[in-house]
Amino acid sequence: MVMTEPGALEYQEYDVPAPGPGDVIVKVLCSNVCGSELHIWSGEHPKKSGGLGHETVGLVHQLGEGVVTDNAGQELKVGDRIAATYFIACQHCPTCQSGRLNLCENAYSFWAKQPEEYPHFHTTFSTHYFIHPGQFFYKVPDNVPDTLAAGANCALSQVYYGIDQAAVSLGHKVVVQGAGGLGIYATAILKSKGVDVIVIDADPSRLALAAEFGADHVINMNDYKTKQERVAAVRELTNGQGADACIEVAGVPAAFAEGLELVRSGGKFVTMGNVTPGKTIDIDPGFITRQQVMIIPVMRYSPEYLHKALSFLSKNIDRLPFNKMLDAEYSLENVKEALTDSMERKVTRATILLK
Ligand SMILES: [Zn+2]
Ligand SMILES: [Zn+2]
Repeated sequence: MVMTEPGALEYQEYDVPAPGPGDVIVKVLCSNVCGSELHIWSGEHPKKSGGLGHETVGLVHQLGEGVVTDNAGQELKVGDRIAATYFIACQHCPTCQSGRLNLCENAYSFWAKQPEEYPHFHTTFSTHYFIHPGQFFYKVPDNVPDTLAAGANCALSQVYYGIDQAAVSLGHKVVVQGAGGLGIYATAILKSKGVDVIVIDADPSRLALAAEFGADHVINMNDYKTKQERVAAVRELTNGQGADACIEVAGVPAAFAEGLELVRSGGKFVTMGNVTPGKTIDIDPGFITRQQVMIIPVMRYSPEYLHKALSFLSKNIDRLPFNKMLDAEYSLENVKEALTDSMERKVTRATILLK
């Protein structure tokens, strides 16, 4: 499925190319609709045409020369179920060379291409998907269902990496701003580290789900209407100190300004939700200095976190209600419906199933 302009789709057909050295071609099993697809679909994203989809799981269709294992060293053969990072970590550019694989300068070099350009299958709302050298990929543990595995390369890997940047540990008190998919996964990861978790959101059903994933306290923004009230509520839950860390996955600039005040003196503020440049908010530099708040912005993740994310799902699949995070299935013919339903918030998280 190819977007010809925002809001318009057409079906295009290409021959599946032969893989070059280091490439892998997968036959797509399913592919999730993510928030970034909705940005592209509505025309708010720099990408104005081309393929859609970046969260997928599929079966190895063809292996390029030299590919004998996944990136964790597990033997690989045709028919194995794998998931890949949606970006490239080329390991050659100056940023990769400095060890920051999440900031690779070539991260989206293939994803931005138009479908008529070789190797055509750059995105995942498609029958096949072309994995390039530099995209890390891993076998999916047998007990992880397709729809969950498909999303592991985005929300779960993202928050897992982000949380590790704050180095939280047993007994810490941590605030999560936003209880969408990222916030729910953040709650699950934080609980696995023995952290006391406080989740803030305005949607009671999202907060209820956060509680099911282990949140110790939830703060409903309809009950605590102002920033001052929420800061006071967090103080009360943290012995008057403020949280050891705050994880921003709300995606609005106001949450950034507020999060700085939710942490204790010397606390850490990890910001991942605000990814659109150009939206601004007033902040108080003197307050940040005096409180010595450590601001940690996080973009993408180090590729091995996809492996960690898949293992996390496998270990916790029977313990946590992951099935409640995906609520709608569509066929490839109904991608448009999946996008519009997601846009109108008729569904929380849609998945495209390939037959
Ligand atoms: Zn995504
Ligand atoms: Zn690079």
